[in-house]
Amino acid sequence: MKKNDEFIAVIEDLSGEGEGIARVDGYVWFIKDTVIGDRVRAGVMKMKKTYGFARLIEVLEPSADRVEPRCPVARACGGCQLQMMSYEAQLRFKERKIYNNLKRIGGMEMLALPSEGGAGMLEMEPILGMEEPWRYRNKAQFPFGKSKDGRVITGFYAGRTHAIIENEDCLLGVTENREILEIIKHFMEEFGIEPYDENSHTGLVRHALIRKGFATGELMVSLVINGKHLPHADVLVERLCAFPNMASISLNINTQKTNVILGAELINLFGPGYITDTIGGVKYQISPLSFYQVNPAQTVKLYGTALEYAGLSGNETVWDLYCGIGTISLFLAQKAKKVYGVEIVPQAIDDAKRNAALNGMENVEFFVGKAEEVLPREYEKNHVYADVIVVDPPRKGCDQVCLDTILEMSPKRVVYVSCDSATLARDLKYLTDNGYELKRVRGCDMFGQGGHVETVCLLVKLS
Ligand code: SAH
Repeated sequence: MKKNDEFIAVIEDLSGEGEGIARVDGYVWFIKDTVIGDRVRAGVMKMKKTYGFARLIEVLEPSADRVEPRCPVARACGGCQLQMMSYEAQLRFKERKIYNNLKRIGGMEMLALPSEGGAGMLEMEPILGMEEPWRYRNKAQFPFGKSKDGRVITGFYAGRTHAIIENEDCLLGVTENREILEIIKHFMEEFGIEPYDENSHTGLVRHALIRKGFATGELMVSLVINGKHLPHADVLVERLCAFPNMASISLNINTQKTNVILGAELINLFGPGYITDTIGGVKYQISPLSFYQVNPAQTVKLYGTALEYAGLSGNETVWDLYCGIGTISLFLAQKAKKVYGVEIVPQAIDDAKRNAALNGMENVEFFVGKAEEVLPREYEKNHVYADVIVVDPPRKGCDQVCLDTILEMSPKRVVYVSCDSATLARDLKYLTDNGYELKRVRGCDMFGQGGHVETVCLLVKLS
């Protein structure tokens, strides 16, 4: 076979990224936009020795799990991978992904899927799904550009490219996004303000960052510009303030030739420079540059699970490694004697300290630095102690030195929150080979319609 040849295949499995997998005459095909059980006609895109990539041309017989995507640009847009699968099937897929990784990479022989365990087996707890897997994101970043006929447009980048797919009403985002974008677009057209053009590095308006505090309703708009000044900014502010809950408007200065969306400098146009939100009773101030979980409804469940697994009675000393703006730290601090947070990004630690003060929490202390440097230093120099260590590392997982220090400190419990179950499995293998036992595992769906899934694990020190 060669490029553009067509063939028929039945989808048997899904890759970790959500691409359908089919086997035809012993050769493996990855076919995007398909669902397990679909019989499809596909066209060859690219072929390697043992596997190839093909594109979906036609669904000949749909899988029982196939649904009509709600979003009209679901296939073209790079945002959602699983919209054509029923939400129930998405959850089963994510559960199985965690299970497979923990078993294959982590060697967790005794692990079983929910309600499939027998004697001596460790059953995963049922994945925490969303009640409503739409309009759950509290943050969106829309790029601006021009259509072929010269109109100002905004939407999302197509998968892996920077072509803008026009769409102002992403179904994962809040309904206000659309009205806010309309206001900005009309403003730009009225005053002849050009969208940024990546290729020539000219034009002014790059992105609009929109955030909403789901608990408070407060709205934030930050317009990312390739310059220091937005002409007629006062008019834009006045129009955006038509929203009674508009709480923060700013310019973000990004004059670099880069794919990174936000620059470091902010010019405040309206409000205190941040919005306030609460998660599970804890208050947070969020500036345009702050990292903040994008799915607040599921975040409560994720952190609630981490808190439950930590098993705190009020007397414990807890370390929260990779703490970001201290969201988990503050959750834990409500039930612990003392919490130490460690995070590499200094601005995140500034936010963490401010949020601790905002909530009147005095039993938390934060360190800026790498977990694999701060923890061994504090352990060797200051003989710090831990009853429980919580880790929530980025996709690459924990550093080896960090894991070794955890083993040396020998806490009673380790709670591992992970956004990548493959690196989680690798780290679990190391911890369970060195004196810890895996006791509880639970998935949490933070990204409905997307391919990623979070996992929380409890490891207990063997006596
Ligand atoms: N627990 C936080 C953030 C988790 S994201 C929350 O739930 O909001 C992972 C965090 O790890 C990021 O904030 C990232 O900046 C930080 N990080 C990455 N590498 C690190 C390292 N080596 N040491 C400490 N923090 C690190």
